[in-house]
Parts: sequence; structure tokens; C-alpha cells
Amino acid sequence: MPFDNVKFRQQFPYFQQENTAVYLDSAATTLKPQVLIDATTDFYLLGGSVHRSQYEEKQTALYEQARTQVKELIHAESENAVIWTSGCTHGINLVANGLLHQFCPQDEIIITTAEHHANFVPWQQLAKKSGAKLVILPVEKDGMIDEQALAQVLNSRTKLVALNWVSNITGTKQSIASLIPLIRQKSTALVLVDAAQAICHFPIDLQTADIDFISFSAHKFYGPTGLGVLSGKLTALEQLQPLMFGGKMVEQVSNSTSRFSKLPYRLEAGTPNTAAVIVFCAVLTWFRQWDQIAMEKYTQSLAKQIVTRLQNYALCRIFSSPQSSILSFVFEHIENSDLATLLAEQNIAIRVGKHCAEPYINHLNLQGTLRISLAPYNNQQDIDNFFTALDKALSLLE
Ligand code: PLP
Repeated sequence: MPFDNVKFRQQFPYFQQENTAVYLDSAATTLKPQVLIDATTDFYLLGGSVHRSQYEEKQTALYEQARTQVKELIHAESENAVIWTSGCTHGINLVANGLLHQFCPQDEIIITTAEHHANFVPWQQLAKKSGAKLVILPVEKDGMIDEQALAQVLNSRTKLVALNWVSNITGTKQSIASLIPLIRQKSTALVLVDAAQAICHFPIDLQTADIDFISFSAHKFYGPTGLGVLSGKLTALEQLQPLMFGGKMVEQVSNSTSRFSKLPYRLEAGTPNTAAVIVFCAVLTWFRQWDQIAMEKYTQSLAKQIVTRLQNYALCRIFSSPQSSILSFVFEHIENSDLATLLAEQNIAIRVGKHCAEPYINHLNLQGTLRISLAPYNNQQDIDNFFTALDKALSLLE
């Protein structure tokens, strides 16, 4: 069935308010559906926490149901392989910190130049603390990892490879399915995939993807802020030492020692973000009615149209990928921030700057970019409004 953009857009109360901006910044965070707002109210009306007392049975059931929903969403091995985090950044830090005890100066970590700081700085820190070598693989002009270049840096000392699945600057999607067999062939490294920009755009299947660790945020997938998921193989997750110690992550505590709980609780110390988890459960249930592949096809067609129209501007440089709903651009003769200011004044919400990916911006030899990122609630009118505002801004700046 073709994707019904009108029906989808109606799910988002943002569009029913007056004077809201043309929202073209969904890679930063998606807008929220009504179901999220309703579930938040329901949660706070009910009260209580989870896993603490008998009276909280309903909250606890919903909380654990959310884990099952995520397990099904990404085809994780089991509910025990779904760890709640505060977001994608937290998940990656859990891994970088949790593996520290295994690293020594002879080891090597591979990342790419195209990583978000969330998948860059934790590995830089791990390398600093352990003495391991951090290898930063440049991506090609089209944003893709060159398999031959990757094969050259992989070796028996490579202990971990951390890659983004989709770039937050160009929307480039890496061929994870062909990169991972190559990594397995050349090394015994663990593989972490940063799925922050992937989760909203295509179905993920951990049963076929052979990924050791995967991390993403709920707020980039119509969900609440302050919540993320770390998942992957149980054998990999079990190797992680907890980052935080305290309640719920222990089975038994004496004066001299503590026995830790099993996964997932071992990595979830303290009162969890119960509201966010339960609300995310409602969002995931709601999301099941939509065809994600059809939605993405629709969104990509909007992005393609933007790229084609931007190509008509002589001094515009575009950084995008053919199958993507994220794209960056710069005008060679205009400061990004000047253009962004004039667009914001006309109620156009796009992102400007280095997008928390300074090494990639440097690699592209830029000061920053303007970024448009789309979601299936965007429509033709949004695009037309953007171009009207762009033309007006350019007429003032040129
Ligand atoms: N990785 C990528 C590719 C991202 O785009 C982002 C956020 O924009 C992150 C990681 C970090 O996500 P969060 O800030 O939700 O932890």
C-alpha cells in the first residue's frame, strides 16, 4: 500500500499548532506523535516505579513489554540483550568503558573520519587510558568506507571496530552487511554500530547483521528524550563491566563484596527512566501500523527533489547520498550562519554548524554545513516553503 503522508502527519500535534516552523531537522530529533503525549500523561497519573513493589504490577509489566517491543523491532537475541540507556551516547560509552579492562597498548581500535563525536571521543578516551592505538580510517569522496582501505588497516591486533551505519551529515549508509564479513575475516575484533541515524529509516535485523554492539536513541525515533538502547550479542554484552554500581544491578550485597545481577539489569543501575521506557512502548506499538520501507521511499523522494532543486544554484555545494533523507549544503560565497539566521527568521528549522562531527567537517575541508533532514511527516509544502525562504535569504545576502 502506498504511504499516506496526510494520515501520518495528522499523528503529530506539532502541525496543528499555529506558527510552527517548517521542521527540517528530524536527524536532531523527531517530532512526537500524540500517542507519546497521551502515554506520558497516563504514566504520571498512575504513579509508582517499577520492579520495586507489588502495587506497581501494571507499570512493571509495561516496562518489560517495552523490552520485548525493542527486541522485536531489531530482532535482538532476547529481551536480556536489550539494555536501557539514556541515549546513543550513553550506550557507546557503556561499551568503551565496559571493555577498558580488556585493552592493552598492543591493541588497535578502528573508527572512521565520518563519526559523530558520540562514536569518536569515547574511543579516543579508551585509546588514551589503555595505550591502544586509535586508527581513523578516512571515508571516500562519496562518504563510503573503501573496503580495500579497511582491509589494509585490519589485523590481528584490531580489537574493536566502531562505525556509524548512517552519517548524520550526508546521510550516507555504510554497507554494514559486506563490511562485517571483511572484519571477521581479517581480525577477531568486536564490532559496534552507531545506529542513531539508522533506526528511524530502515528495519534492523540483528539475527542476520552479525553486529556485536548496537546503540541508538529513542528521541530520534518518535520516542522520548533521555532514553536509548544498547543491544547486540549476549556474548559481547556479557563482557562489559558495569559503568555504574548501585541498586537493581546487584543480586546480593555484603560488607565486603557484591554479586552482580545478570543482563540486562547488571548494566542498568539505579531507578530507570521508567516514564520514557513506558512511553516508548506506546510509541513502538503505534509505529507497527506503518510500513517503514514505504515511508522511507517517500522521504527519500522528497530529499531527492531538494537535491535536484539545490543543484540549480550555481554556488551551492551539496553533500548527500542517493538513498538518504539527510543532506548537507553550503553556498561558497555565503557564511552558513548568516544564511541559517535568515532562514530561521522565516520560520525554517534546519541545523547549521559542525553537527558534532568536527573531524568529518575538517576532512571535508569545510567550516560547517547547513543540514536538512526529513521525516515521513514532511510534505511538498514544506519543501516549497524552504525554497521560497532560501530565495529570499539569498536575495538579501548576494
Ligand atoms: N551518532 C550519530 C550518528 C548521531 O547523529 C547522534 C546524534 O545526533 C548520536 C550518535 C548521539 O545521539 P544522542 O545525542 O541522542 O546520544
